[in-house]
Amino acid sequence: MNYLPIFLDLRDRHCLVVGGSETAARKAELLLRAGAHVAVAAPVLHPGFGQLPDRHRLTRVADAFSPALLDGKDAVIVVEDDAAAARVVADAARARHLPVNVADKPALCSFILPSIIDRSPIMVAVSSGGESPVLARLLRARLETLIPAAYGRLAALASRHKERVREAIKPAQRRAFWEKVFLSSVAEMVFSGRDSEAEAQLEAMIRDRAAHEPARGEVYLVGAGPGNPDLLTFRALRLMQQADVVVYDRLVSQPILDMCRRDAERIYVGKERDDHAVPQEEINLMLVRLAKEGKRTLRLKGGDPFIFGRGGEEIETLVEHNVAFQVVPGITAAAGVASYAGIPLTHRDYAQSVAFVTGHLKENTFNMNWEGIARRDQTIVIYMGLKGLPMLCEALIKHGLTADTPAAIVQHGTLPTQRVITGTLTTLPTLAVEAGLKAPTLIIVGNVVKLRDKLAWYRPQVASAPAAATPLEAPDHLA
Ligand code: SAH
Repeated sequence: MNYLPIFLDLRDRHCLVVGGSETAARKAELLLRAGAHVAVAAPVLHPGFGQLPDRHRLTRVADAFSPALLDGKDAVIVVEDDAAAARVVADAARARHLPVNVADKPALCSFILPSIIDRSPIMVAVSSGGESPVLARLLRARLETLIPAAYGRLAALASRHKERVREAIKPAQRRAFWEKVFLSSVAEMVFSGRDSEAEAQLEAMIRDRAAHEPARGEVYLVGAGPGNPDLLTFRALRLMQQADVVVYDRLVSQPILDMCRRDAERIYVGKERDDHAVPQEEINLMLVRLAKEGKRTLRLKGGDPFIFGRGGEEIETLVEHNVAFQVVPGITAAAGVASYAGIPLTHRDYAQSVAFVTGHLKENTFNMNWEGIARRDQTIVIYMGLKGLPMLCEALIKHGLTADTPAAIVQHGTLPTQRVITGTLTTLPTLAVEAGLKAPTLIIVGNVVKLRDKLAWYRPQVASAPAAATPLEAPDHLA
């Protein structure tokens, strides 16, 4: 983070604008809109100044800058082509610890002005920290279209009822109450201009809620996909942003964790048999306890919770303890990784079915129906197979696949550190060792692997990515 975004209260404060150009007029306008009194130092003012709203708060005080003009000021904006002249003002302002912005000269600024979406009292500020103003502006334009213009009225409605809600609803339940309001027809009514109906509905909600039972916790069992945050579902993201507590394990990548509600408590439970792991039974009971404390508990899992995720066990315990829950599917590793590796899992010419199997060894053997799995017309996707790779390839050959059956192993699929190694059942184990792959990895076996040569499209730049930057690291037994 190069800049800390803050919102400055300039109501009835005094600011100085140095410069009289059209750009200076736009800066002055911003200050006026924020309620400030604006003094301008410039030999002449562009006609744009004459059209500014609230210009009774604007005065041209001098032809040129002098340090005395900084007396009593709270912020300074400079619009000045001449870099040396701009520096004189910036230096003088900084010497007094006054926030100063110099248009188009980021090196001289102590603050920068973001692109803003004004839905007062809601403000959205977007900035690229000066790196790419055009991109920030494009993003702003998109946000403009996404955020209904009536958001400001909705916020004002909430503000009018803030006190009543504070009196009627206990602190622990207030956030949930407001979320319910903003997702309810109250918001829709405001957006469609039916403000008095919205007001009546909100009042009814406050009355109902005041007499209501304590908040009931719930567990959201959410699949976070294979690691790339772009592959989250909307529903996952919405629940991530409203959960009070997040219980996550190792396959959940940092960028995804960062998208959870900022003040949510985070509990790392690792994975079974991992050194820092919490045993599965304890995780199950932890979810029950958190929900019973009234918390909206997000159980965040890699991929899909119902595919090699033990999600079933976790919600069985919830059912036993009468805890409410919902399950959100995620993109399972097989789907995500295959797509990003350019390997279609089925294909009319090569594979009519897919088998998802676990390559996790139990007492050094696989407990599997090899006949059903080792079939020429089927793609086999092996989860947790890195460690057992040589034995897996051997077993597949022993049960009928030819030794030259194409096979691939994909490290960190969908992530910038993705690597794909292809070979055959005979060569893959050695190639994987030589490549020094890191977990998690996924193995894909079958003729569809041949298609990768033609269909590979995702080529992240990993050459310089140090191992330490890896967002995912799975324990050995999950490899
Ligand atoms: N529930 C998860 C799977 C959990 S088992 C899902 O639906 O995807 C853990 C295994 O998933 C890992 O050992 C690895 O085989 C696979 N896996 C998960 N994410 C992966 C990724 N980004 N790249 C490669 N394999 C991945």
